[in-house]
Amino acid sequence: MRIGIISAMREEIQAILQVLEVHKKSTKGMRTYFEGTLFGKDVVIVFSRWGKVASATTVTQLLNDFKIKEILFTGVAGAIHPEVSIGDIIIGEELYQHDLDGSPLVATYEVPLLGLRSFATHEENRNKLKKACIHFLENIHKYLDQDKLAEFDILEPDIHTGDIASGDQFISNKEQISAILSGLPQVKCVEMEGAAVAQVCYEYNVPYSIVRTISDNANHNAHVDFPKFASDVASIYALAILENYLID
Ligand code: SAH
Repeated sequence: MRIGIISAMREEIQAILQVLEVHKKSTKGMRTYFEGTLFGKDVVIVFSRWGKVASATTVTQLLNDFKIKEILFTGVAGAIHPEVSIGDIIIGEELYQHDLDGSPLVATYEVPLLGLRSFATHEENRNKLKKACIHFLENIHKYLDQDKLAEFDILEPDIHTGDIASGDQFISNKEQISAILSGLPQVKCVEMEGAAVAQVCYEYNVPYSIVRTISDNANHNAHVDFPKFASDVASIYALAILENYLID
């Protein structure tokens, strides 16, 4: 049984692929699945592309074609909570689809027939992930030099455990943020895949965790140097968190 590791973007898995001891590579439905060993554990790694459909189909393929005991999604996200800054880490607790609204037939955000408005990540893995993130941030300078952190204004990165909202929109203005916060005031960050992966894992009864590095404040600057942040910072965060999580 292996751990399935998913990110949305190629840039985000770049650093991981450099360390992965690849045993087999296969391409299905325009996604490449890398089977191998990472920090002594058997894993399958894939990048899904952005959005709920792309990530839902990818995780479904992963669960059906590879023996997976656990899913870990790593990636970047936009902060929408005032306490959250660029470079912080969010460990997902409940995952919501902020663009799902079947009201008045079912409640806003509710997934029809499941009767759920959100999906909870696996508690034990979440705690293990938190320990891994704490350990990484205590040793961040081993992985990223001060100049690189300063380039992206990352001062004292923090870890937050909390709710995440996913939707098929890149959030880049105040109106979009207010619309999300009016229904989900507790949400820490926005992204485009987490809740879709969570729904599929829930339906297949496979434990999952979501960990996100904050890349932007979901405002008009949200697009600035995005690919560079993903490859220079977020992919290093992902690799370092995985190292601490998998070695344990
Ligand atoms: N690299 C792209 C930007 C990617 S943004 C570029 O060239 O500009 C989309 C990806 O980042 C998605 O996978 C999503 O999950 C995440 N993301 C980061 N910030 C986001 C935001 N403000 N709103 C929505 N998704 C965001």
